[in-house]
Amino acid sequence: MLINCTSRKCGKNSEAKLNRTTGEILCAECGEPIQNVTEAMKRTLNSMGQVIRGENKQAFQVFCPTCKKNVFFLVEDGKCYCPACKEYLKVSPSFVKAYEDNLKNNKDE
Ligand SMILES: [Zn+2]
Ligand SMILES: [Zn+2]
Repeated sequence: MLINCTSRKCGKNSEAKLNRTTGEILCAECGEPIQNVTEAMKRTLNSMGQVIRGENKQAFQVFCPTCKKNVFFLVEDGKCYCPACKEYLKVSPSFVKAYEDNLKNNKDE
């Protein structure tokens, strides 16, 4: 389910994910918490499995030197890039593999 990001810098629709620990919805594009998400929406995301796996949240963030913060990178053609500034990030191939395996695992659920 696509949710519109409330961050002014971003404002994109993305497959935002629920952090079940904090109850926050985090934008898949910029990683910022999205405001004004109803409890009903959170329950829907939870039941759809559109949630952040606790241990993965930190594991799959990398530091973007351009944005000067940790970002949830995206992968295209085996290369990682920052969703905010679109700069390529230096990430080891084994890390990308782990990330892609993780995505597959999440889809199977
Ligand atoms: Zn965003
Ligand atoms: Zn960046």
